[in-house]
Amino acid sequence: MRRVASFLLICISITIFMLLIPGNAGADTLRGIYGAPADLSDDSPFRKGATAESSGVNAVFVSQKNDAVRRYKEQGFKVFISVNAFGGKRAWDKYPDSRPVKANGKKLGEDKSDKGQEGTCPTHVKWREDRLRHIKHLADVLGKDQGIDGIWLDYIRYPGFWETQKPEIPDTCYCERCLNKFQADRKIIIPPGKIAGEAASWINKNCPYEWMAWKKEQINSFVRDVKAILAVHPEKITLGLFTVPWRKGEKNNAISYLLAQDSFLLSEIADVVSPMLYHKMCGRDVDWVGRMTQYYKETAGCSVWPIIQSHDLNPDEFKKAAENCGKAGADGMLVFSCGGINDSKFEKKKMWEALRDFEPQENLIINPGFEPKQGSVYPKGWRPGESEIDPALKSVFTVKKAEEIDKDENMRNFYSLGISSGYGNDGKWTGSIKPSGCRDDEEYIFSGLFYRDNWKNSVYPSVTLFGEKYYLDNHWKTKIFQPIKVHVKCREKADAGSVVFANENPGETFYVGAPKLARHHSFSNKAGMNEGERKQQFYKNFFPIGVYGADMDNLAEIKRLAVNTVIIGGEGEKLKKTIEKCHEIGLRYFLSVPHDPDRLKPYLDYLMPPTFPGDKMKREILRRHDAAFYVNDEPELTSFPANKASDIFELIKSRIPEAPACMAVVRPSNCREYLEAADFFMMDQYPVPNMPMTWLSDSIDRASAIAGNERITAVIQAFGGEAYESAGWPRIPTWREMDCLAFLSVVHGSRGIFFFTFSEIGKTKKGRESLGRVVGRLNQVYPWLLENNLDIKVPVDMTSGNRFDPSGRPSVHCCVKAKGEKRLIMAVNSIGTRVEAQIGASAAAGNGKNAFFTEVFSGIKFPVIDGRISVKFDPYETKVFLSDK
Ligand SMILES: [Zn+2]
Repeated sequence: MRRVASFLLICISITIFMLLIPGNAGADTLRGIYGAPADLSDDSPFRKGATAESSGVNAVFVSQKNDAVRRYKEQGFKVFISVNAFGGKRAWDKYPDSRPVKANGKKLGEDKSDKGQEGTCPTHVKWREDRLRHIKHLADVLGKDQGIDGIWLDYIRYPGFWETQKPEIPDTCYCERCLNKFQADRKIIIPPGKIAGEAASWINKNCPYEWMAWKKEQINSFVRDVKAILAVHPEKITLGLFTVPWRKGEKNNAISYLLAQDSFLLSEIADVVSPMLYHKMCGRDVDWVGRMTQYYKETAGCSVWPIIQSHDLNPDEFKKAAENCGKAGADGMLVFSCGGINDSKFEKKKMWEALRDFEPQENLIINPGFEPKQGSVYPKGWRPGESEIDPALKSVFTVKKAEEIDKDENMRNFYSLGISSGYGNDGKWTGSIKPSGCRDDEEYIFSGLFYRDNWKNSVYPSVTLFGEKYYLDNHWKTKIFQPIKVHVKCREKADAGSVVFANENPGETFYVGAPKLARHHSFSNKAGMNEGERKQQFYKNFFPIGVYGADMDNLAEIKRLAVNTVIIGGEGEKLKKTIEKCHEIGLRYFLSVPHDPDRLKPYLDYLMPPTFPGDKMKREILRRHDAAFYVNDEPELTSFPANKASDIFELIKSRIPEAPACMAVVRPSNCREYLEAADFFMMDQYPVPNMPMTWLSDSIDRASAIAGNERITAVIQAFGGEAYESAGWPRIPTWREMDCLAFLSVVHGSRGIFFFTFSEIGKTKKGRESLGRVVGRLNQVYPWLLENNLDIKVPVDMTSGNRFDPSGRPSVHCCVKAKGEKRLIMAVNSIGTRVEAQIGASAAAGNGKNAFFTEVFSGIKFPVIDGRISVKFDPYETKVFLSDK
């Protein structure tokens, strides 16, 4: 258990929280068109009953003119206008000091390479005031008497032309005003005498994160100012934003560091974000539209209405883009632009019709809002459990608004169902799934917000969907609603029409809100890695035997135990020294990275500074063939957003593709959420002394089935004692127990072993000895660890009285490995008693030629009789048998 400081958790939760309340799909599906002509000719597609209406288009963006607005309002459309924030060159004439200054000290547009670049410095006070006055004017003039329905800010960011396949974004703005404001706002002092160019490199070296965050604030504050204007306006005017469709994980996080536009932060201010998903312009395929929509939807705090391109698309591709927005969960959709449809060289009618194919995702749960119906305390369609007995402790069912449970101010309000479970076996709420719901073999995602006051071991709620029950054992957060997702398959089940929330823990209380069950679509990721590339350089002829808890002071001692890999944290100078020490003594290292793509960029820049022409020395601190990355730690228990996790992964892989990225996962089914966020999953189940050893191996099997069997490694419990007693680990495992876990994981296909943690087991001489003993045994068979297990099931007959693990399976687990003709059988007794077994050695070796097998650790030769060897095992003992031929 690596603990995150709780304040961090809270910050994360607030963001995740926004995850949200399912969009209201249905009759008012928003389909909008940008650039509708100001005039309505007689044959205009926007006349009542004409093409636009039959295509389901119900909103238009028009020019900032009163008569245009009125005309479209008369035809029944929602009318939006778009307003430039910091784009163009117009400001440069009026306010010469509004022209942004680049990192090299030159004004934007001065260098030849700046061709096509434009934009205004976002800190220019007068320009901001002008813009805000203009927006207020538009709201007053166009917004009165049910005029415009919304204002969308365009170019709400720093300069840079992005609408191309290989954009080059200038690094701005280092004007005097910006440098002064930054220093004043952030209480940072740039050494005096630094002119623009020098100041930029000083900032880059000393406070890149603070500078980026401050830049974002220049943008966010403008949006807040606009929001304040609209908030006091008598008519409701929606505030939308057009945003650049870049992930933080791509282009070295240019969206944060250069453009300073954070759609997720902005989504907490605006009502709608509209990422400009112009796939063809950006050189992407049409699936990218769906993938990006999912990216924004996962954690945006407001509605997401992507805007897709109509230019240069044939009707089929256009239709597909529209469809993908809906399948990915968009709340509405906009099209850029009307001209693109009208100028199409394809049949216009078909282009218009394609818009019908945008349909928001359907929530299959009936009445997910839980609003109590009039005259009843219970929501329509939901019924609490009924008990057949009259127990001393009765279940209590409640319907409460979220704010009554969790006072967090950042929270949206919604109704939730509560269950305080009694002993009557009735702690459940039952609702219904739409009859259209269950389609065979389709994948669905259930999501909901779950609340608990305190966490207790083995106490979790469950949800039953399509007749199958799912324990929500990653519900770890307390005193806040935690978003939880479950991937479900629809199978033929008797009660496929109902959804059940259950709490089978007498005396405990859970709440659930905002449930959503929707069909899930996976969009292909051509830019992503293929399986072949996962066979990393790092793992070539290498099997990591590693420890957590390494630092500068214990590296030498760790190395002496024959450990070959360490997991190291920290950053800056201290990290550099630790890495250098690893190089010196010959240890590979997993770098435990910041869990935030905005923090990660400067972290990586420090380890791998960009090289400039003329650099003579190698500046990289890490060695590419020694490094790997530890990207997250049990992310499922805090519902760490998958979009953020994959941003972290992509940032690393784009800088150093050969280094593997790994994350620890304790709930194997949740690997599903993070498949695109790690190369390897580390199973960290800690069973000693209260759980069977097979908890680890079962988890490996389950994770392998989801992620593929070459992507799993294991973390072995090497801690315990008084400090951990209340959490269920009252003692440290014996060397035999650690040995059992380590070899059991190999038998189940683990591609690496890490001990958690040297900072505990390394404290005592006895601890170091037992760790050294296990590591020594692993090293004794090291060449064999590099070989994958053969796909052969070894016949095992248990012959002793004690023979089964707690799940009723033979206690001895075996695997076979091969090197040429030689075969190696690894056999692990997974229980704490002596057992005896007959192992089908000939069947495993694939031949009958072996007269005996030599046990590697003892040197004892085991004769093969009737194709079998008879073996006695001590509690938790591993034996390794090598064929003689
Ligand atoms: Zn500036």
